[in-house]
Amino acid sequence: MTDKTVPQPEPGILDIAPYIGGEAKVPGFDRPIRLASNESALGPSAKAMAAYRALAGDIFRYPDGTSEALREALGRAHGIDPARIVCGPGSDDLIGLLIRCYAGVGDEVLYSRHGFLMYPIAAQAVGATPITAPERNLTADVDAILARVTDKTKIVFIANPNNPTGTYLSENEVTRLHAGLPPHVILAIDAAYAEFVNRNDYEPGIRLVNRAENVVMLRTFSKIYALAGLRLGWVYGPPAIIDVLNRVRAPFNVNAAAIAAGVAAVEDTEALARARAHNDKWLPWVSERLSKLGLQLTPSVGNFVLPRFPDDPKHNADAAFAYLQSRGIITRKMGGYGLPACLRITIGTAEENEKVAATLAEFMAS
Ligand code: PMP
Repeated sequence: MTDKTVPQPEPGILDIAPYIGGEAKVPGFDRPIRLASNESALGPSAKAMAAYRALAGDIFRYPDGTSEALREALGRAHGIDPARIVCGPGSDDLIGLLIRCYAGVGDEVLYSRHGFLMYPIAAQAVGATPITAPERNLTADVDAILARVTDKTKIVFIANPNNPTGTYLSENEVTRLHAGLPPHVILAIDAAYAEFVNRNDYEPGIRLVNRAENVVMLRTFSKIYALAGLRLGWVYGPPAIIDVLNRVRAPFNVNAAAIAAGVAAVEDTEALARARAHNDKWLPWVSERLSKLGLQLTPSVGNFVLPRFPDDPKHNADAAFAYLQSRGIITRKMGGYGLPACLRITIGTAEENEKVAATLAEFMAS
């Protein structure tokens, strides 16, 4: 029986394991090396920062509730229709918005075993049931996902590339996944790390959205654009879904500074190219250095790696986390993702990467 003496939240909410973000502080270190949240190593575009500062005198005004300037800049940059874009305060918020609009009590939201944790959290928040499909080699398995679609499935989420595994599905695989779904099930392609990927067979989802009525693509400014603190993301989708999201989202869901900085960031293609080149150089470097220490790595196409540590208590992931932290380096524990033997480590600046590799070498030799 429900307790009627105190307010009760809706079904499912108390089952949520709250999302725990990467840590930001280490006692005793004024400026720890923060490699726990996949923020871009090089920081934001100088032009984005200037646009943010230039807005200070205007913050008493409401922002443009339709984020028009940003949608138009995104439309130009990606060759897509701005009317089919909804901006929001981070893609986390847009994941929640999509789920609120299309799933409810008794419905199922499907994602892959080590997929991004906001999918189950946002599903449980509306009383829907998160369902996981097993992966193969830490990679989403299209057949396993399709095998778990039921009459109750409303949305299939695929992070491509996936956080925290760093693996991706080729355009052909995503197309095959879409082809196997009933037309009323939404395929949500979360391409938060798209800009880091340099594989010929990868496509972030734009082409599929262009020709399907049940596909959306989610993007963020938190990763390669390094604007995580501003909270800015967007979704590209078919007109009918965009119309639904626009009815339910908050009227001024993106703040004015985020819109201004976002426009400048999208237009600063040189800063984007620099951030990409940095990752192209350092992702293989960090991967190789960690592999040489005997750590197992699944090839990552994002701006992070996921080394698997040995089982022995002296060299396991918890011990590695503590060792790095005691030297002022913050990484991310992966127990919440069902990967307790792994740590997720963001690609940092040159010095940060060298420091983390050298510190892990010391740790493994200790
Ligand atoms: N999707 C994935 C796959 C992510 O890794 C993240 C960031 N952790 C997000 C969405 C959320 O990003 P945002 O900062 O835009 O909310």
